[in-house]
Amino acid sequence: MVVIIGAGLAGLSAASFLGKIPYRLLEREATVGGLCRSHEVNGFTFDETGHVLHCKTAAMRRLVEGLLGDDLLPHARQSAVFSKNTLTPYPFQVHLHGLPQETVRDCLEGYVSALVSSRKLPPSGSFKGWILANFGAGIAHHFMVPFNEKLWNVPLEELTTEWTSLVPRPPLRDVINGALGINDKEFGYNTQFSYPRVGGIQSLPLAFLQRVGPVEHHKEVLEVDTKQRRVRCSDGSTFEYESLVSTMPLPVLVQRCIDLPKRIREASLKLRWTSVYAVNLAINRANISSKHWIYFPEDVFPFYRAGFPMNLSPKMGKRGASSIAAEVSHRPEASVPPAQLIKRTRAGLVRAGIFQPDDALVASEVRDIPYAYVIFDRIRARIVPMILEELERRGIHSIGRYGRWEHTSMETAMQQGKETAKALRRAVALT
Ligand SMILES: Cc1cc2nc3c(=O)[nH]c(=O)nc-3n(C[C@H](O)[C@H](O)[C@H](O)COP(=O)(O)OP(=O)(O)OC[C@H]3O[C@@H](n4cnc5c(N)ncnc54)[C@H](O)[C@@H]3O)c2cc1C
Repeated sequence: MVVIIGAGLAGLSAASFLGKIPYRLLEREATVGGLCRSHEVNGFTFDETGHVLHCKTAAMRRLVEGLLGDDLLPHARQSAVFSKNTLTPYPFQVHLHGLPQETVRDCLEGYVSALVSSRKLPPSGSFKGWILANFGAGIAHHFMVPFNEKLWNVPLEELTTEWTSLVPRPPLRDVINGALGINDKEFGYNTQFSYPRVGGIQSLPLAFLQRVGPVEHHKEVLEVDTKQRRVRCSDGSTFEYESLVSTMPLPVLVQRCIDLPKRIREASLKLRWTSVYAVNLAINRANISSKHWIYFPEDVFPFYRAGFPMNLSPKMGKRGASSIAAEVSHRPEASVPPAQLIKRTRAGLVRAGIFQPDDALVASEVRDIPYAYVIFDRIRARIVPMILEELERRGIHSIGRYGRWEHTSMETAMQQGKETAKALRRAVALT
């Protein structure tokens, strides 16, 4: 028997690929999807925060198409950066045209200086050092540093560079072209993406339900006895397993395992992460932006990104209206009252010219995403492999974005579910 903790994309994918192996799929919440859940507020659909689908591998593309078929809308990314009162296309570093001349000069000068000096960083280099070495002082000062400090909520000297493959690093010619307003290339991992026609991103996890056995809801796993191979849930039920697939956040899993060595339990307490408030608003005015989302590096805006769900699918809202999903990052221990978040977000949107001062809100809510961004600091790099190894030794496969404690996409969560299921099937075939 396999017990799977969590019916997010990683858990659902694992269940769907287990074949004939019996399993129980335990989920704490009333619905499936985890971070890929969507809900309605006064006729507007919001995701937990905007989630768009981009698949690098053909296998995962086939899986998604098989699940959603014609219900997928293709999109060419329309994203932008708002700074110095100017909207420029994303990524900032190759779209300097239109910014104040001194900003463009700082950015070009810094970029060239960084190129001329050595680009090589020591392996222990910090994210801040990586930004300066790769983009120079100007781009660092005007975008990279303030934006990332707002998102990560920790000094960038504390972050490592393990996840930076996601950040586009262009050649000089593209930076110059961008400063001159010549835009003949696309940059980044998500230039093309798709999104469900109806129902928001939760359509994807819901589609898995045709392929998996029953999901057992309101079963939060509170305790894992790794010697007896047994889990105990919030409703008192217990389940025995031969293999456990867990998608709950790694530090929570470790604390809920009752018999792990002290060094593992203590190590897990050192893992850090950032939380996000999703501030979801709607007004009775159409077409407030043509973008899918906009990044806001400056401090005067409380949010680091604002998305426009109705540009992903018009079915996300009502005709003649617009919705917006702003993301405000916060330390997990901090708490800001929802009314204050809505007031500040609204003021920021007015300042950016997206809302008008007299726009009345027709929908508003705040959701807290307690685990949003895993902090890649030096300690994480040492601790996570050690914890995962100890868990594997005890028949526990910790997978998914928070199970592996990493910064990965929906595609990777589904891929890890599939690979874990395949490994479990191979193990059964060998016995
Ligand atoms: C702000 C933000 C934006 C993102 N945007 C994108 C995007 O545009 N595109 C993209 O591809 N990816 C995006 N991602 C990443 C994407 O959300 C994740 O990679 C993916 O959803 C992870 O799925 P998962 O199954 O690993 O984890 P989760 O979605 O967290 O699922 C875990 C499940 O386990 C359940 N659970 C937890 N603890 C217990 C317990 N003790 N007992 C029982 N059940 C439990 C939870 O309720 C949940 O259902 C984004 C992430 C964030 C934070």
